[in-house]
Amino acid sequence: TLLALGWTVQAALYRAATVLVAASPCAVVISVPAAILSALSAAARGGVLFKGGAALERLAVVRAYAFDKTGTLTTGRAEVTEVVALDGLAEALFVAQLAGIEAASEHHIADAVLRYAKVLGVQPWGVSQVQAWPSEGISGTDAEGSVWAGNQRMVARMGADASAHPALQPMQAGAQTVVHLGRGNRLLGAVTVADAPRATAAAGIAALRAAGVGEIAMMTGDRREVALRIAADLGIHDAEVHADLLPADKVALVDALTAKGAVAFVGDGVNDAAALARADVGIAMGAAGSEVALQAAEVALLSDDMQRLALAHALARRTAGIIRQNLIFAIGAMVVLVVAGLFFALPLPLAVIGHEGGTLLVVLNGLRLLNDPIRVR
Ligand code: ADP
Ligand code: MG
Repeated sequence: TLLALGWTVQAALYRAATVLVAASPCAVVISVPAAILSALSAAARGGVLFKGGAALERLAVVRAYAFDKTGTLTTGRAEVTEVVALDGLAEALFVAQLAGIEAASEHHIADAVLRYAKVLGVQPWGVSQVQAWPSEGISGTDAEGSVWAGNQRMVARMGADASAHPALQPMQAGAQTVVHLGRGNRLLGAVTVADAPRATAAAGIAALRAAGVGEIAMMTGDRREVALRIAADLGIHDAEVHADLLPADKVALVDALTAKGAVAFVGDGVNDAAALARADVGIAMGAAGSEVALQAAEVALLSDDMQRLALAHALARRTAGIIRQNLIFAIGAMVVLVVAGLFFALPLPLAVIGHEGGTLLVVLNGLRLLNDPIRVR
């Protein structure tokens, strides 16, 4: 075509070379990885590990954050606050049996019971044939036969009736987690377990809201009364609280949220690994979370500091912004250079400078993110 315009072969080749340099998309190609790698590195230095650039890009468009309660919004270091042994059973004997069955559980509640037994100086009973009932409790067999521990759902599953025992009424009415101990349909007693909100959770959630996150949800297998008490401390509205959930219910709720946009689920992996995996971005409480959580999630918070979540969210958004800037600039520069090369006799050295300069600029723009630390004041 250039020959057809009446140019000499030499001029045509020169022009072709100029256009070739101008049109090579180095800046376009490098603009995304330059920004993503810088951001991943900045995030890692701030204690937020992304399993890849895709998770960072997805986090930038998240509009709803769902949180597990126990071990995520709360510290998971629960304490036994009250013990009621029924039918004159001695407290130490009761706690020895409860600690025996809980010793087989990985739940935060089990830790609390075992620590309490230790303080009392009682030896947990040996238990075999253990079965975990996710978000309900645990069952097994000890020296006196079948034994189980768990919440109201577990009580119902075993055909027991907590309301038949007036001594347990104040516990049922309260706002703490109640763990019952029973054998078959006979209740031996119950303990309450209280878990404190994480010190940084309220600030983290407030920062997410301030950053324009449209929806916050708390999802828990615990009772509604307990969930509402923790939620109130954290600035989570009652309507955002979903309690009495089984692991599958958390997945279904994540799915329901996903219909309105990208969802991040923040959890510790105890009874919420499926929800972590199902969300657009699964975020594991790394320091406090389990191995399962780290497997199922794509982002790990290495510190317990929930404010870093909001900072990671902001970083992801800034990264998306810089990628957009870079792409617009790189494609724009390319168009200008190509047009100049084709129609305005752009000299080859200028095309080279324009091309390399553009590439350098987008890389430098991306590298700005390196200096965008996730730092908590
Ligand atoms: P969350 O969703 O808040 O992290 P889970 O789904 O892990 O809570 O547990 C929900 C509820 O199931 C607990 O509050 C407790 O009542 C009961 N539960 C689960 N595991 C156990 C256990 N090992 N012993 C007693 N109760 C348990
Ligand atoms: Mg949990």
